[in-house]
Amino acid sequence: MFARLKPALFASAAMAVAAPALADEVNVYSYRQPELIAPLTDAFTAETGIDVNVVHLNKGMVERLQAEGDRSPADLVFTVDISRLNAVVEAGLTQPVESEALNENVPEQYRDPDGHWFGLTTRARVVYASKDRVADGEITTYEDLADPKWQGRICTRSGLHPYNVALTSAVIHHHGEEVAREWLQGVRSNLARSPEGNDRAQVKAIWAGECDISLGNTYYMGKMLSDEEQREWADSVRIVFPTFENGGTHVNVSGVAMTAAAPNEENALKLMEFLTSPEAQEIYAEANFEYPIAEGTEAVDLVKGWGDFTADDVNLMDLAKLRADALRLTEEVDFDAGS
Ligand code: FE
Repeated sequence: MFARLKPALFASAAMAVAAPALADEVNVYSYRQPELIAPLTDAFTAETGIDVNVVHLNKGMVERLQAEGDRSPADLVFTVDISRLNAVVEAGLTQPVESEALNENVPEQYRDPDGHWFGLTTRARVVYASKDRVADGEITTYEDLADPKWQGRICTRSGLHPYNVALTSAVIHHHGEEVAREWLQGVRSNLARSPEGNDRAQVKAIWAGECDISLGNTYYMGKMLSDEEQREWADSVRIVFPTFENGGTHVNVSGVAMTAAAPNEENALKLMEFLTSPEAQEIYAEANFEYPIAEGTEAVDLVKGWGDFTADDVNLMDLAKLRADALRLTEEVDFDAGS
């Protein structure tokens, strides 16, 4: 399956050859849970004989890579959210990767034009709506969230969380800063309570009658349905895929980047290409109820059952560039003190 693999020209290829027999391995620093990755790395090892060593991190990826510098054993970083991917890139800790397979498998909007990161799966940021208290069609756009008809009816996690910052970046992208500020103020004044908790906690609040709609990522529906206690919360809501008035539904990615200091570049490239191959994509997406992105791939039936949507076609790099503005606006309107 690696017939399309192009021999990559890496600056340190000569070094690798000169070094005494490097182990056939590839090292991954991952913000993603080990159980999401294990089925894939096992399959990769079975197919290629290359061992995959995964270090799971909860935080501090950038600091760790910086501290290790040239001696870092990490070849690849796995993470979610465009701002986290971009943070590693902006710190100068990644290298550009040129690969026909990657460019073919990963749609343009989900990869860095300069090849520093590649998306692997997507998740939409959607509205969870009370089945009892929100009618079909009552909310269809992100802009609607600022409509006074939702006064006292919206729950969300912190406006400063990367998921919401990316959404606000998308509002700026579509409408400019002035409208985005008004939108944030509008949503803030519609909050049922001050932002707190994670995406699932908002659905719990809908179940408990504290609010009628919330913002959340799609895969949390799958996670709640898989949890005995949370299943009730999930059953009290349905997913609505809002769009921008002049665009599609906001999505974010999980993705991968090759480190600047990667000691096993060729193996790392093989693993990246494997991860974007349609078979691996479907396994990876299924593990966390996400959407695979390679052409011809499909989400599992449960995920497809939540509905069809058209993803916004903005390149996520354009959203990453608006992150600082989105953060500033969120602080300016004191979003998290809302309600
Ligand atoms: Fe999440």
